[in-house]
Amino acid sequence: MGQEAPVQTVLACSQCGRALAQSDLVHIAGNWVCAECKPAFLSRVMASGDAGASPLARRYGGFWIRFGARFIDGLVFMVPILIFAAVLIPNLIRAGSQARNTASTPNAAFAALGVTFFVVIFLAGGCYEILMLKYRSATLGKMACGLKVIRSDGRSLSWGVCFGRFFMWNVVTSGIPYVNSVIMLVSAIMLGVDDEKRALHDRVCDTRVIYKQA
Ligand SMILES: [Zn+2]
Repeated sequence: MGQEAPVQTVLACSQCGRALAQSDLVHIAGNWVCAECKPAFLSRVMASGDAGASPLARRYGGFWIRFGARFIDGLVFMVPILIFAAVLIPNLIRAGSQARNTASTPNAAFAALGVTFFVVIFLAGGCYEILMLKYRSATLGKMACGLKVIRSDGRSLSWGVCFGRFFMWNVVTSGIPYVNSVIMLVSAIMLGVDDEKRALHDRVCDTRVIYKQA
């Protein structure tokens, strides 16, 4: 009778989000963390001491800064494309004139070179983005904008995630003619309205784009 439950302050664990009594949580580096999340959280804080470790300390990269980063990557990529084109176009012209001389159609030669050009650029773009994400957590454009890509739990990206992210953006979102403008718009709106600034490929790959300094 008259047995009242002691008044407990309920707080959310900053890592798993579970609501727990304050007495079941510990305060580490400005974050409330539950007993289950504590070991992983501690080792992350010790290992990195950086912005990604705690979701609460993150600042997510919005649409314009990420657009700027993609734009810079585009400029970076113009250099090898121009060099490649400078090598390819004289061969293209030579192939065309040879084809005329032998009275066979030049279309096949043009098509073959066009396909080669496309495949080489695509593969080079893939290698660039995947290797940069894996080893630097950012492309040169993202580095220039002070951004990096992490998993939702703060880990850096595995090979599979790097590949998946490249594939989702370059093929699914922006690679399909005509449909791409719609998917890119949808992805941009998703990013704009989401409080963790997740684009479509971030949702699929469970990634976040954050500022390196919180
Ligand atoms: Zn927890």
